[in-house]
Amino acid sequence: RILNFSAGPGLMPATVLATAAAEMSTFSQGHSLMELSHRSAPFEKLLEETEVSFRRLLNIPSNYKVLFMQGGATLQFSCIALNLCAGANAGTKADYIVTGAWSQKGHEEAVRLLGSDRVNLVVNTKSSKHNGDIPPLSTWNFSDKQSFVFYCDNETVHGVEFGSKFPFHAIAKDVPIVCDMSSSILSQPVDVSKFGLIFAGAQKNMGPAGVTVVIVREDLLVASYKYPQPFPLMLDYSTYATSHSMHNTPPTYPIYLCGLVFKWLETKIGGLIEMEKINAAKAACLYEAIENSNGFYSCPVKKDYRSRMNVTFLVKGDFEKEFLAEAEKNGMIQLAGHRSVGGVRASLYNAMPLDGVQALVSFMKEFASARF
Ligand code: PLP
Repeated sequence: RILNFSAGPGLMPATVLATAAAEMSTFSQGHSLMELSHRSAPFEKLLEETEVSFRRLLNIPSNYKVLFMQGGATLQFSCIALNLCAGANAGTKADYIVTGAWSQKGHEEAVRLLGSDRVNLVVNTKSSKHNGDIPPLSTWNFSDKQSFVFYCDNETVHGVEFGSKFPFHAIAKDVPIVCDMSSSILSQPVDVSKFGLIFAGAQKNMGPAGVTVVIVREDLLVASYKYPQPFPLMLDYSTYATSHSMHNTPPTYPIYLCGLVFKWLETKIGGLIEMEKINAAKAACLYEAIENSNGFYSCPVKKDYRSRMNVTFLVKGDFEKEFLAEAEKNGMIQLAGHRSVGGVRASLYNAMPLDGVQALVSFMKEFASARF
């Protein structure tokens, strides 16, 4: 296949697409899954199995609910503000850690909905162009009474990732940590018990756009955390928790594809510990090539916080356009950086095999040596 380095919607495992193609029109009783009622027994079974597989992969404790929602990760920026603000007048503040474009958007939405006096900026790396130059913890400006602490695990646009370097120890145990894991979920094991809530749009490591998965600790679903009612039922996590994500028609086909991806991770990859090793090898291969290019390629992100999923880099001189065009001629597409930052971005989601990254690295070496 052509190597697709898209940041999202991203690559799907080829075997998953083959299974989906084979089952496209004959999933059950001679019909496609997308033609089945969401209340039908085959779909209810599929939803159940999909959730069980997802729980197994991430080892999700039983006191957490898994919700299948719509509206993308962007809607979650609104949902977390409305569901976890601990009442509108409780004197608490939502603490936001801003390290890139997505946490910035989350912060903006919280301010829009709750007002600037209910939202606090703990850290903002905007002045260093979100280059992973994260200031020392001693300078972080946490609020005294926190409703929750929000951060984005992997900043897809800027290529900045916290992973296990996030300072969990600096946050009081009773304060829910809320995390946008859209572009890093299922790329490595995560200790879910450290979080109050995790959300992720599917379209990077799980499946197609159209479904967003939320993992939420049950005790956070109480009225006292929520914005004064009524706010839209479809933005209230409790609506999904009490109906097993079936209050209305869930995105059945995207959920089915996510289920196939989860099965692929469990059976073909061997779970998240194995996936983590493969992802580490892929990222190391590409970052080494950048470092060893005598400055022809350079990564703008500080070493400690470089993303394993979205590797951003610059090409020396004015070779960038040519680099992207040549890459495409060589069967490597979607390498342009996000329109807001430019440069090159290679997204190495789970479905990108190591030999795909090795092919990119070979191409980069040839391209550089011909122009040095
Ligand atoms: N958060 C992160 C980390 C993302 O990468 C994206 C999209 O790329 C979003 C949020 C927004 O997702 P959506 O387009 O599904 O709303």
